[in-house]
Amino acid sequence: MQLTPEHESVRDTLIRFIDKEVNPHVDQWERAQIFPAHQVFRRLGELGMLGLTKPVENGGAGLDYSYGAVMAEGLAHMHCGGIPMAIGVQTDMATPALAHRGSRELRDEFLAPAVAGEYVACLGVSEVGSGSDVASVKTTARKQGGDYVIDGGKMWTTNGTQADFCVVLANTSDGSSHKNKSLIVVPMKTPGVSVARKLVKMGMHASDTAQLHFDSVRVPQRYRIGEEGMGFIYQMEQFQIERLWGALNAGAMAQRAIDTTVAYTRERRAFGRSILDNQWVHFTLAELQTEVAALRALSWQGVQEVVAGQDATRTATMAKLKAGRVIRAVADGCLQFWGGMGYMDETPISRIFRDGRLTSIGGGADEVMLQILSKFMGTFPAGH
Ligand SMILES: Cc1cc2nc3c(=O)[nH]c(=O)nc-3n(C[C@H](O)[C@H](O)[C@H](O)COP(=O)(O)OP(=O)(O)OC[C@H]3O[C@@H](n4cnc5c(N)ncnc54)[C@H](O)[C@@H]3O)c2cc1C
Repeated sequence: MQLTPEHESVRDTLIRFIDKEVNPHVDQWERAQIFPAHQVFRRLGELGMLGLTKPVENGGAGLDYSYGAVMAEGLAHMHCGGIPMAIGVQTDMATPALAHRGSRELRDEFLAPAVAGEYVACLGVSEVGSGSDVASVKTTARKQGGDYVIDGGKMWTTNGTQADFCVVLANTSDGSSHKNKSLIVVPMKTPGVSVARKLVKMGMHASDTAQLHFDSVRVPQRYRIGEEGMGFIYQMEQFQIERLWGALNAGAMAQRAIDTTVAYTRERRAFGRSILDNQWVHFTLAELQTEVAALRALSWQGVQEVVAGQDATRTATMAKLKAGRVIRAVADGCLQFWGGMGYMDETPISRIFRDGRLTSIGGGADEVMLQILSKFMGTFPAGH
């Protein structure tokens, strides 16, 4: 896909912001296991970065997804994976359905402030007992008068301790599990919403992750996104953007791993020459670079399909699967060439190793991607 000066301008603005206002604080935010989401998002909102692909009437720029893709890649310039992920949740995971299917009133109330960076969004799909099997979520939203009363809970909710609203997938009837769900916007200050605990993770430290409880949470029915019973379908649509975002961001993170490893191994010496001058080292890095280029080509094919208005499910699924494999191979392969320093918390490669590991799990595990792809291939056994 041909990138224009406008794409470059988005990237340059983002990189300048990251260099000046994010990277100098990343180590401190990683240690604190949280970053000031409202502060960072407000600045991103002022720069127009949270609404590149969102409707103009909600304060967005109304651009096509190629601009969102440039941002997904550019965010990997941050010296951690957690803050990019938190921003990705805001732009590409919790709000696509709201932007495409939400009523005008709902978009005015929740999307516009999310685009401005005044509100932080989170996505409540996974539950303690339901991650891969999304259709099995247990949270219910029962109609009472003009309201829904929501009971249940969500698990691993990114931005969960800081968010202003959560887009919750809940069962709104007892019917078939693919047709009984709705996506509902739940303001986090509503009585009955509580953060049960802030989860401690192996990586993505600057990003806060929460377990949420909903105890008789009452929200008006107009907070439902789109049609009742269509929540599972809307979430599957929304997953395509989430997965493409994950592939683009992980690919760019893998590129940063290679670049930083080339720089380190060029300087570090053993046996009278630089580590990089060993053929095993520069050949391995060339091999990994090829993997990253192949991933990027696949991801951008998906972007092109989205821009053309085609169904990108198959390509986004392949890209997400490949991204999980590639970031693991690259992070592990590169870390090896850092020797003891690779095992130190202070080096960029050890953070990429920890943060990148999530790609094969979050947004649907590799095996779930393989299941979807098997269905496309007609090889998935009937009745499963
Ligand atoms: C840091 C982090 C942030 C997250 N953020 C969010 C968020 O903001 N919102 C949200 O809703 N969720 C979020 N998640 C949840 C994430 O999407 C789930 O963890 C993921 O979908 C996997 O679900 P699970 O953990 O329940 O795994 P399980 O369903 O318990 O599966 C465990 C493992 O079993 C294997 N497996 C599963 N199904 C199959 C199969 N059919 N065939 C073969 N093997 C299989 C896979 O290897 C899988 O990893 C986050 C998770 C993490 C760790």
